[in-house]
Amino acid sequence: MKNKTVIVTGGAKGIGKAIALKFASEGANIVLNYRSSSPDEVKSEIEDMGVKCLTVQADVSKADEAQRLVDEAINEFGGVDVLINNAGITKDTLLMRMSTEDFETVIDINLKGCFNMVKAVNKIMMKQRSGSIINMSSVIGLAGNIGQVNYAASKAGVLGLTYSVAKELASRNITCNAIAPGMIATDMTDVLPEKTKEQILASIPLKRFGQPEEIAEAALFLAKSKYITGQVITVDGGMVIGR
Ligand code: NAP
Repeated sequence: MKNKTVIVTGGAKGIGKAIALKFASEGANIVLNYRSSSPDEVKSEIEDMGVKCLTVQADVSKADEAQRLVDEAINEFGGVDVLINNAGITKDTLLMRMSTEDFETVIDINLKGCFNMVKAVNKIMMKQRSGSIINMSSVIGLAGNIGQVNYAASKAGVLGLTYSVAKELASRNITCNAIAPGMIATDMTDVLPEKTKEQILASIPLKRFGQPEEIAEAALFLAKSKYITGQVITVDGGMVIGR
């Protein structure tokens, strides 16, 4: 990854932070996108590793902001080698209580945000005739879940997008893959009630939650793999074995 340019959306915390640090430790320059969390701490950790870090505030659900994020990356580093579409949210509630707004907000960030970013890097990656796009899906996108109709739809959508982009851009030597994490210990899962966490834990064959660094390992593997495209790697301690 030495001297490669890697964009990580939602990189100031959780899985995105772990991915940014992992790629930086491999010598990549990082374009760290954030929306509301301060990126300063992660930026200084990255720079301590001797690589560059450009922080860009942008809401990926807005096409013009996604384009500006990519333009700033190109202005600073001259190209984009890896795009990690990590930004995502949940707005969990049962279908009967889920408002249209709850549904649309999650789709806008998780799925449309991913589309906006892929569209924004498309031109430069085609011109370079190289690139790797890695989209964060979820086991919920594979299996569905009670109280997550919006989230499951967005993450299943990310898989369809991944397969199609992989087919469309392969002739330009651009790969596109997805990761489907299971239950990973971050702010997103920390807010779940203890009882729910216990129930989830009981459904994980490896009997523990995953760590953000374990998702970062998979992202790095995919970014380095030149002959893998249109695939989804499930990193879930065995939660959805057999699917
Ligand atoms: P997290 O700690 O809540 O972090 C979410 C990140 O997304 C934050 O950095 C946040 O930025 C960013 N974000 C949200 N909306 C954004 C927007 N409109 N524009 C730009 N950035 C935005 O969650 P996480 O667990 O690390 O999740 C990271 C990804 O993994 C998500 O796509 C999530 O769906 C997926 N995932 C997580 C799990 C899990 O168990 N944790 C499992 C499967 C999949 P700000 O804080 O700056 O707003």
